[in-house]
Amino acid sequence: MSRCPNCKSERSRPDVAARCVRRSLTTEYQYRRCTACDLVYLPDPGELGIDERVYISTYEDEWGETRDLKQRFEEYLVKRLPVDPPGRLLDVGCGTGSYLRFAEQRGWAVAGVDPWSHRYRPAIHPAVLPVDLQSAKFESGSFDVVTMWWVIEHYPDPVKTLAEVARILKPKTGLFVLSTDNIASIEARLFGRYWHHLLPPEHVCHFNPENLSALLARVGFRVRAVKHVPVTAGVMGSVHVYATEQGWPLTFGHPLWHILGLPFELFFGLLRKSGLFVVYCDLPETAESAQAAKAA
Ligand SMILES: [Zn+2]
Repeated sequence: MSRCPNCKSERSRPDVAARCVRRSLTTEYQYRRCTACDLVYLPDPGELGIDERVYISTYEDEWGETRDLKQRFEEYLVKRLPVDPPGRLLDVGCGTGSYLRFAEQRGWAVAGVDPWSHRYRPAIHPAVLPVDLQSAKFESGSFDVVTMWWVIEHYPDPVKTLAEVARILKPKTGLFVLSTDNIASIEARLFGRYWHHLLPPEHVCHFNPENLSALLARVGFRVRAVKHVPVTAGVMGSVHVYATEQGWPLTFGHPLWHILGLPFELFFGLLRKSGLFVVYCDLPETAESAQAAKAA
């Protein structure tokens, strides 16, 4: 019996089963839902080849995520950081490092890690280290900002990774921002196996704002805000997946298709049930001292 990657419970039930239409994969993957923490996860992802699971750097070329749109969104994300440079910023799972370039332009001293960036596409920023976060062995408390954009859903062991972020972030003044898709969103419920962000087997863990916030608190973070992001690919991308599965000869390559999804995304965002969410958190104290306090 597989354990939940979040709370380690063995109690789970079958949830959605799907194949990855976006990559034209034929294998169907069965997700399970933890009955203790409500995480939806792929059991035993370690049995899958890593090449099957990770295609991170190819993201920018796929439907609805053209390079131009992606870069504009990254620029927006840098501008929206609620803290000001100068300082040290680390982007975890940074792909080719395009986000680092925007952050650097805003005055941040940048670093990035992504074990797959060099494999699929050469890094465009020299500060990208082609390793995973643990192997980079950054000094404790050495970053003012750590970002992790749409990455946590790829990790078979998200607890270990978030605990490492807690170790390397500056206590009190440091900021950690991460984003992921929302399995409790209206579009996830509406589209089920056709949901655009499901993406098996790359996406191992599907969180919701509650269980991700609880996990962050467990490794020592204090959650300051959870924001729901209207990204139109969720609705129109799901329509695309559905149409493909039905064999309809529809193509959704034109950016104007996105506009059709926008009113839905905005409405779902107002209800705090949109397909993507961003969590802002900090460390009230060092992770070590928080753990010591818990043990005492
Ligand atoms: Zn669980």
